Parts: sequence; C-alpha cells; structure tokens
Amino acid sequence: MDNFTFCSPTLFAFGRGEERRTGELVRKSGGSRVLLHYGGGSIKRSGLYDRVMAALHEQGLSVCELGGVRPNPRSGLVYEGIALARRERVDFVLAVGGGSVIDSAKAIAAGAVYEGDFLDFYKGKIVTSSLPVGVVLTIPAAGSEGSPNTVITNEKTGVKKGGRGEVLRPRFAVLNPELCFTLPPYQSASGATDMMAHVLERYFTTTQNVELTDRLCEAVLLTVMSELPKVLRDPTDYDAQANLMWAGTVAHNNSCGVGRTQDWGSHALEHQLSALYDVAHGAGLAVMFPAWMRYVCHRDTARFVKLATRVFGCEENTADPMSTALEGIDRFVAFLRSVGMPTTFGEIGAREQDIPRMVELMGVSEEKKVGVFFPMGPRDVEAIYRLAL
Ligand code: NAP
Ligand code: FE
Repeated sequence: MDNFTFCSPTLFAFGRGEERRTGELVRKSGGSRVLLHYGGGSIKRSGLYDRVMAALHEQGLSVCELGGVRPNPRSGLVYEGIALARRERVDFVLAVGGGSVIDSAKAIAAGAVYEGDFLDFYKGKIVTSSLPVGVVLTIPAAGSEGSPNTVITNEKTGVKKGGRGEVLRPRFAVLNPELCFTLPPYQSASGATDMMAHVLERYFTTTQNVELTDRLCEAVLLTVMSELPKVLRDPTDYDAQANLMWAGTVAHNNSCGVGRTQDWGSHALEHQLSALYDVAHGAGLAVMFPAWMRYVCHRDTARFVKLATRVFGCEENTADPMSTALEGIDRFVAFLRSVGMPTTFGEIGAREQDIPRMVELMGVSEEKKVGVFFPMGPRDVEAIYRLAL
C-alpha cells in the first residue's frame, strides 16, 4: 500500500426528511448570505425547492438564487453565478441537485474569491481557496457531494475538463433517498454506471497488495448491481435507493481509493463524448469503459481475472486466464445492457468521423499520456474509440 493522506470532512445528514435541516447546517458552516444553485426544474416539480427555501428562511438566512444548470454544466452559467455571488456578497453556495449542479456550484464558489479566470482551475491550477459549499443531493451518481472534484465544459472551446482542490469538498451533504423517487430510470442507470466507473478507475491500479481497498471496491460494485435493478423495478423502494445513494458517495470520496494508484483514462475518454454529443456522463462511460477494458486487459490479466471471478461470478480458467478476463468484461456489458445503458457509439449518436476531433480534444501526445494503469497516447486513444464503434 502506498503512503496517503485522507481527510473527508463533509458532514453527511442521511435519511428521510433530513433536508429540513438545511438552514441549520448552513448556519453551522458559518453561512449567512446564501446562493441557492439548482438545475432545470426537477426540484420545483417535486416540491423540494419550497422545503429547502423554508428551511433557509427559518434560520433567517438571506437567499439569492440561480437555476438553470444543465447536465454537463457549462462555463457561461458559472460566470453568471460568480458575478451574482460578488454582487450579493454571498458567503455560502448551496447546491440542490445532482453532480452537474454541485460541480457548477463548486466552480462559482472557487471563482468568486479568485481574481483570475475561474477556468484556470480546469487547466491544472489547484483550487486552494473557495467559498464554502453545501449540498442537497437529488441523484446518486457523480459522488461530487463528497469529492474534491468539479467538471465543467468550456463553452468557447467545447473542452470538458475536471478541476480539483481539497477545499472543494462540501461542508455538508443532505442525502435523503426519498428525493430519488422521482428519477427517470435512465438517470438512475446512468448514475449507477458512473458509480461503477468511479470504483473501476480505482480498481485498475499498479499498486500491489491492496486487499482491503480491492474488497471495498468489489463490495460497492456488487451492491450497485444488486440494488439498481430493484430501483428500476420500483423507484420508491426506499432501502434500494438508500443503498445506492450511499454507494455513490463511497464510490468517489476516495475511501475505496487511498494508498493505491488510480487510472482515470476512461473518464477522460468519456468527457469528449459528453462534450460533443451532450450524452449523460454515465451513459458515455457505459460505452467507453468496456472498450478501454478490452484494449488494456493484457496489461495485468490477473487483475481482470480477479474482477471477473469476484464481482461477475465467472469460473476461473487457469489454463487460459485471458478467456476469464474477457468473460468478465462480457458480463459487465451484459449488465449494462440489462439496465438500459448504451454500449456502442451508434446508440448515443456518436460518429466515427468525429474520432480525430475527440483524440485532439483529449490533448494527449506521446510525451503527455493519460491514465496510470495504462498510459494512453494518441494511437491508443484512437484505437479505443474505434473499439466502441
Ligand atoms: P446531473 O447531470 O446532475 O442530472 C441529470 C438529470 O437528472 C438532470 O436532467 C436533472 O434534472 C435530473 N434529476 C436530478 N435529480 C432528479 C430527481 N430527483 N428527480 C427527477 N430528475 C432529477 O447528473 P449527475 O450524473 O449527478 O451529474 C453528471 C455530471 O457530473 C457530469 O457533468 C459529470 O461529468 C460530472 N461528474 C462529476 C464528478 C465529481 O466528482 N465532481 C464525478 C463524476 C462525474 P434537473 O436539472 O431538472 O434537476
Ligand atoms: Fe464520473
């Protein structure tokens, strides 16, 4: 196991009705002038907006608001949010929604106290100062409620990139599984696929003898695969939603990833799909992750066999480990298809002729490869996109 430092300071308020505590949690985090940030309207239709507003007003907090975050959040609304936060002298940003809203809120919170262009943070500059952020989560997926990450699409260049900084971990996150009852099945499945991808990015490591975190990763994968079908059959299954919701947080707050190298190449491959075609991030991962796996499985076949046998229930063929590795990947694809996820370019409207553009957007070169388990150069990237056709 490698040396590590791990600090996950987010307070999680989990369970039915916990959103009523939002005002109290903002106050305890030192906020008094709140920017309430949200998406395209699901929180108004569900009544959550009214309940959160009431909880904030109950504590005498002053509130301004900015809605309209779209999935795969864009730079334009972030600039608007930064201007609003400065004008209203906001001291706390509250995200009510999913990963897109949270990531946009983190960008506003970092940008509001930064003199330069906030997009610097999406070109490699680490965020070291930010307004505090709180979250009321409405979709288990990205894990942004417990992560130090944010992903934004630069509207001018079309480039979708991540930024990070430990200060971006939310002060609190309200997780009420009942808030997920209104999720369309496709969103639940996309969210669960993203969770699996977050775990797999960590599972494919070059670090040896990391049995505890391997087992934690496997537990999250098995849980997602058992609970998602229940949620798809009955979105009001509280316990299934609850297990999925906590899985999403655990998958990405790095408790499964400490002390080991992590890959993250498949996320980089996916970002070009969601940037170019505005596909749901999880759906893009369902297309890219299996293609990446097929391309790299010779790199450490034993690790693929471990995944295949422990998670996908394959019998190990000791005479031919690669056949077991490939069967594991096939079973992963079969699971994704069984929950309604696309697994090929055609199903998400992605086009072969755009592959050169995607390779360019990735910004890789032979000197600057992406990924740790399997460092990808431009030729690898192109070959993996072709495998996803
Ligand atoms: P999302 O993009 O935030 O939301 C997807 C859709 O679900 C939206 O249309 C939203 O509608 C709807 N929705 C959300 N909650 C709902 C509910 N309770 N009922 C009905 N509809 C609901 O989804 P996400 O997967 O959480 O976030 C995806 C983004 O996160 C991507 O940009 C991805 O790259 C990023 N990401 C970030 C991290 C990180 O650590 N920061 C990690 C992985 C991925 P409304 O807009 O109307 O609410
Ligand atoms: Fe993700």
